[in-house]
Amino acid sequence: MNKRMSLPDKGIVKAELIGCLKNYKQDDADWRAGRSWSLVYYAGQEHTELVKRAYNLYMSENAAGPAMFPSLRRLEAEVVSMILNLLGGSGSEAGSMTSGGTESILLAIRAYREQARIRDPGNTSPEILLPESSHPAVLKAAGYFGIKPVYIPLNSDFKADTSKLEELVTERTICMVASAPSFPHGVVDPIGEIGRIALKYGIGLHVDACLGSFLLPFLAKLGHEIPAFDFQVPGVTSISADLHKNGYSAKGASAILYRSRSLMRHQYFIDIDWPGGIYASPTIQGTRPGGAVAAAWASMMALGKSGYLELARRTSEATSILVHGIRSIGDLQILGNPDMNVLAFTSKSFNIQSVGLRLDAMGWYVNRINNPSALHMIVTPNHMQAIPGFLADLEKACEEEHLNPVSQGNASAVLYGGTEEGGSDDVLVERTLQRLDNLFRLDADI
Ligand SMILES: *Cc1c(COP(=O)(O)O)cnc(C)c1O
Repeated sequence: MNKRMSLPDKGIVKAELIGCLKNYKQDDADWRAGRSWSLVYYAGQEHTELVKRAYNLYMSENAAGPAMFPSLRRLEAEVVSMILNLLGGSGSEAGSMTSGGTESILLAIRAYREQARIRDPGNTSPEILLPESSHPAVLKAAGYFGIKPVYIPLNSDFKADTSKLEELVTERTICMVASAPSFPHGVVDPIGEIGRIALKYGIGLHVDACLGSFLLPFLAKLGHEIPAFDFQVPGVTSISADLHKNGYSAKGASAILYRSRSLMRHQYFIDIDWPGGIYASPTIQGTRPGGAVAAAWASMMALGKSGYLELARRTSEATSILVHGIRSIGDLQILGNPDMNVLAFTSKSFNIQSVGLRLDAMGWYVNRINNPSALHMIVTPNHMQAIPGFLADLEKACEEEHLNPVSQGNASAVLYGGTEEGGSDDVLVERTLQRLDNLFRLDADI
């Protein structure tokens, strides 16, 4: 029997309730101190308070009802327009806000599938071309919408290898995807070249700039060599841009942008026969949280170009100190040449995942990636304070691993907790499914 919980007989008083939440929260990552390297993007307390106030003003409002809340329609249109301007738009593009990068990508892929269904009804087994480093949201979209994924291999720089890309294009290909930058290695795919091939074959190209949209344009202004990735590149037909990452907005905010409104129309869903009236939904969500729209608008308006430029400067300063520090520890190698604030590093001398476990034990949260196995970090301005301590602990972890390698079975058993090594694919899949089941059980740890 599963452990169960029912509603309290009587509601809990406010002070006790908030105390309870604070208590629950105690074991969470202390991201404010910069000890975690993913999932939270923090531009400081003042900015966060402002975004919170904007969110609260619209917490109950629903952006699915523009007639009732014309201000939300206006705010969303202004957000979309500002992003299009940032991403090389020339005035004829279109877009909408969404709940996150995944929804943005699902909508774009759905739009390409609908476009293909109308243009080429004979194509009953559509395919999508995606780099091996694409975010799994692309694979999720392919899975949800019955599209076959065809992988573009990576070159030694961890970017999509375009040398044989044309051989992968078939009459079934409905679109291509590229990242700016990729999540695992933080490098921007050769979007100019991919765009050229997309144009040549008359196929759409979605650029996943979930991470890069609010950083790459400002790094370019700071003089970094940033490859073109946005609507300025011929062949790019849609872009996903997350507001709740480097846009420093509240969670639940991203945007999907299209070169043409006619392509965007394929993301819509309408039902004109419903007894409830004509149902017209521009995105996947029905109810659309007004708070996320208002918070995104407030974040962009509060920071402006100068604010994002300053955050980009601080981010890039922190990243280069971190990269320099990692490079100066013998035995560690950074994968490829990261284009912004996302990086992964590995080691040829020892098992890098053991170093990861040692860092866990020291209270750091770093991501893991595979093929090749590496540790992964996303840097924000807030990390500057933590970098000296992190580098010292990293060096210590590497030294300990040298003296007492976990891979040779000498280290404490605690260090093994959480490793996913060993076991067949079936075992790995079952263990992962169980982990998902456990997310929603009262009596489980993850
Ligand atoms: C975060 C991310 C996504 C998915 O966005 P969510 O907001 O997590 O749904 C897609 N692509 C890239 C490159 C990302 O970093």
